Amino acid sequence: MTDDHDAQRAADILLCAQCFQDRGLRYMARWFETEERPCPNCGAVSKHCLTRHDLLWLSETFFKKGSTVVTDYGGAPTIVFNETQQGSLNPDPPLAADVDLLQSVLHIGFFHYGPRLWMIGNISPLEDLQDAARRPAVIERILEAYPTVSLTDAEFYRVRKAPKNPAEPSEYDAPPQQHWGKGRLDTSDLPVLYGSQDAEICVHECRFMAGDELYIATLRPTRPLTLIDLSAVLQEECTEFESLDLGVLMLFLAQSHAYPISREIARAVQARGFDGMIYPSYFSVLHSGGNPFDTVYGLSTRRFGQSPDLEKSKIIGNLAIFGRPVAEGSVAVVSVNRLIIDQVKYKMIFGPVTY
Ligand SMILES: [Zn+2]
Repeated sequence: MTDDHDAQRAADILLCAQCFQDRGLRYMARWFETEERPCPNCGAVSKHCLTRHDLLWLSETFFKKGSTVVTDYGGAPTIVFNETQQGSLNPDPPLAADVDLLQSVLHIGFFHYGPRLWMIGNISPLEDLQDAARRPAVIERILEAYPTVSLTDAEFYRVRKAPKNPAEPSEYDAPPQQHWGKGRLDTSDLPVLYGSQDAEICVHECRFMAGDELYIATLRPTRPLTLIDLSAVLQEECTEFESLDLGVLMLFLAQSHAYPISREIARAVQARGFDGMIYPSYFSVLHSGGNPFDTVYGLSTRRFGQSPDLEKSKIIGNLAIFGRPVAEGSVAVVSVNRLIIDQVKYKMIFGPVTY
């Protein structure tokens, strides 16, 4: 950067990491590295000095992202801030002093946020899916609205922990009958082979850990497989409260309480003649970094973020193929490898406890 830029940055410095009493805020403030200089607020000589821009990022991350509560469907921050509201939080010390400091140097107010209700799942197609009587009509809409894709020569992965015969292709088919009906899409009469084109997603989705004895099979279709793509972004002319796109996304990002609904969708997709489906992956959202609820439920991302071409060329996060396709001959095992989790890296942020 230029000298001008450095000079400008120095003039914009408001606080340093040592100014914060809350250790989580201080920890994240240390991510900003500068050359050593005296802090205009506390006078300490610090190489972790923060500008207004840096402090706004810190406020957004610690207070907004760090207070996000995940609900049954969706989620929303508990704290937000802006330049027009008076601060009205009431945290315990030592955070109270930090809140006062940030509010006074940034001229902002932190306050408790009542989320727009669609953010926590009040979306009519999603509510209808939770009602057994109204569910079939929404599933019919899903079958009509989402695109069909053909999987031809694309390879994908399936990971298994400690299979009996690791080199045996049948180990990488859908699981044997006693395990049917436990996953997001399979039922006691519909086995499913779950896979992904992203090996890391396979590991995350199955909650495997370092030290597990893992094997990864590379699979490919032996004939074109017809799939419905529920991870596609729908172009819609409606509010968030009526959005099928957001409702389906929240359904697939939800925990196991949503499985009875997603299983019924899978059964309908199979009855319609599809070989399988592509569906949104929580971990593929997490993969891109940041807060899934922010980046995904923010309509700008959903509605204007991606071009259709980009959509087509994306890596398939979650892939489900109905039946036992390896035994049936529609999917072949190309190769099997051991899989060792060599390094695990988390990016953590801190948030407030009392507010
Ligand atoms: Zn300071």
